[in-house]
Order: sequence, then C-alpha cells, then structure tokens
Amino acid sequence: MNANIPHPESLMMTHGYNPEWSEGSVKTPIFQTSTFVFKTAEEGKKFFEVVTGKRTLPEGESNGLIYSRFNNPNLEIVESRLAVYEKGSEDACVFESGMAAISTVMLEFMRPGDFVLHSNPLYGGTDTFFKNILTRYHIHSQGFMPGDTEERIMEQIENTGIKDKISILFVETPANPNNILIDIEMCVRIAKRLSTSEKKVIVVADNTYLGPIWQSPLELGADICVYSATKYLGGHSDIVAGACMGSRAMMARVKKLRNNLGGMSGPHTAWLLTRSLETLKLRMDRQCENAKVLAKYLRSHPKVEKVYYLDQFEDPEQERIYKSQCSEPGAMISFDMKGGEAECFLFLNNLKLIKLAVSLGSTESLIQHPYSMTHAGVPENIKAQINVTEKLIRFSVGVENTADLILDMNEAFSKIS
Ligand SMILES: *Cc1c(COP(=O)(O)O)cnc(C)c1O
Repeated sequence: MNANIPHPESLMMTHGYNPEWSEGSVKTPIFQTSTFVFKTAEEGKKFFEVVTGKRTLPEGESNGLIYSRFNNPNLEIVESRLAVYEKGSEDACVFESGMAAISTVMLEFMRPGDFVLHSNPLYGGTDTFFKNILTRYHIHSQGFMPGDTEERIMEQIENTGIKDKISILFVETPANPNNILIDIEMCVRIAKRLSTSEKKVIVVADNTYLGPIWQSPLELGADICVYSATKYLGGHSDIVAGACMGSRAMMARVKKLRNNLGGMSGPHTAWLLTRSLETLKLRMDRQCENAKVLAKYLRSHPKVEKVYYLDQFEDPEQERIYKSQCSEPGAMISFDMKGGEAECFLFLNNLKLIKLAVSLGSTESLIQHPYSMTHAGVPENIKAQINVTEKLIRFSVGVENTADLILDMNEAFSKIS
C-alpha cells in the first residue's frame, strides 16, 4: 500500500474490522470476554504453538484467539490502526498505561549490567522507573541535557566508561513542561556510533507530545516509539492507556514479554482508544490551531513574562531541530507569570472553563503549576536548569472556542492586582 493513500485519518473508521464478523455492526463491538472457545482440541494446540514460540506465523497472519491476556479482537483492531498511523511502523502494541508500555519495552531490551542513555528532563514516572526500579536489576542510567552536542555526549560516555554497556538510547522530545527539543537524528547517530556487529543500540522515543501527527521518530531512524495513549491518542480524559510501535520483529518481542507481565489493555480500554483514533487528526489539528491563537494572546498579555511554545525560538539550534523533526508546534504551551506562586495560584483558582488538573492532550483545556504539581519531585538543581520555577504554568489547549478560552483567562488575570 502507498504509505500515504488512503490517509491514516480515512482508515480509522474501518481498518482491521469487517462488519460481517459481527451481525453487520458498523462499529466494532466490545469483546468483553476473558477467554475464547476453540473449535477443536487440535485448533487449541495449534494456537498455543504460536504463543509458546514453537511455530511462527507467516507474515500478515494473526494467531487464533485464546485468552485476553494474549489477544482479543479489540486489542488487535486498535493495534492495527495505530500501526497505520505511526509512520515507519509495521506493528503496534497497546497497554493499559503509558508506564506499562515504557517499562515493558525497557525490560525486553535490557539486561543486568546495561545502561540506558537518556535525554533530560524525562517524564516523572519514566525517571522514577529508570532510577529506582531498573537499578534493582542492575540496570543503570545516564542522562544528558538539552543543548549537549553529539561530541559532548560521546565525551561524557567515554569519561564514565559506560560506552560498551549502553543498550538503549531513550529520548523524550519535546520535553515536559516547557517544550525543549532534543535532536532525534543526533540520538540515532550516537546509537549507531555505540553499536557493534554483536550489539545494536536501539533508540526509543517517547512521542506522546507531538505524535503521530506532527513528529515521526521512526522515519528519522528511531527503532521504537512509546506513547502515553492517555494523552492525545485517547484524547478525552476517560482512559489511561499506552502504546508502542516499531518493526514487526521488535513488536513481537515486546508482545511476548507483555503476554507474561500482563500489561495489555483490556477490551473496554482498547475499544475506547479505537473510538478516539477516529477523531485524532480533527482534534489535534483544532488543538494546535487554538494553541497558536492562545500563544499569541499570552505573549501580548502584560501579566505574562515569557511564553514557551514552538512557534517562536530564541535559540537558532532549537529552531533548526524544530524544522528538521516537527511539522507543527503542537498544543502544549507553558508560560512564566510576572510574580511567583501567589500570582499563579490566584490565576489558576479563578479560571472557570479551563480546568485545573494534570494530564494533557484532551478535548478540554487543562492547566496546572508544574513546580508544585507534576514536577514537585524533581530535584531543585534540575528544575532550575530546565526553567521550572514557581512562576511557570503549563497549559494543555483543548478544542473549545478560543474566544471563550481568552475570556476565561482575561477574567482570571484581572484578579491579580
Ligand atoms: C503521561 C506520560 C507518560 C506516562 O503515561 P501514563 O499513561 O500516565 O502511564 C509518559 N510519558 C509522557 C511524555 C507522558 O506525558
């Protein structure tokens, strides 16, 4: 199939499902079942040969239904649609949370003694998993900062003597909460320099903020994309879910471990995610258009000191990275208020339409104070380095009418004297 025709958004209502399977139902039913009936004992035996790795399936064929920890129609349908959306992927793997996706991928591709080289700052849950959980299994991490060049990162690796021990390069871009970009192609080059004929260092990219519409790490050479599908993919603040995409071979490895760890999404979550994908492009396009309007409004507001949004750059290197890997600035804005915590809290407490909550990427606008909320656990010196101060606010722009969002913000700003 031509990579772009039909466009992914045109396939999201139908791909991977035939109404004839379910009484002509135009929508996929929810297959709310834990187990599936075999026609014969021979058939059951055959299906288990695949699950246990005794037999491999020909390309394009999926195994018979056995038990919902291994496979379920809702899980398979949503996975086939996500693979259509993520450019450069052959298969997808869906989980009950973003952290289940990230942790399962890390555990599959790392062994005791290995190091993960990662960008900073990382999503808090990922950071905790690397530093507090993987270390129990003698898997360690080393981070680099935004702005570090390829040569500087290589030098740090040489200096710490971990060159032969790195098995994964994990990159999260744009970084939360203020949209600092990390060069994905630089990460791919570093991984190539660290790979040997015996060991390929793989690049895992957390694509939650801009993917799959505005950033395609696999096309830039990354091996696996991971997502919190709780955010834009789910997009309605009604599910917690996760996903990863990549080659068929790598996804087969991830699925095998997932079969065992049990982090797959249940039929209802998979079904809700399938529903969400139908409007993914519509929602994300509208959210981005709204964010452009709101960033402009915030930049002109006398009570705002600075806006962090990917439509304008102070640093030419950030602009270069943006142009090489992002197609749109997305729908996450952060901004510094004039003042500190008191001014921020007064503003947040007086918003009515925009909801004070963590999470992001949903149809409704959500706003929060990273310093005291999402980034409360980040050490002070790191917070200072990434500009997370008491005057910072993070704003996830929804699909509302921008006039109403501006009115709401104007009212809240007016409460600050
Ligand atoms: C939310 C988030 C996660 C974790 O996902 P959950 O669905 O909450 O488990 C990971 N990475 C990023 C960038 C996130 O925003």
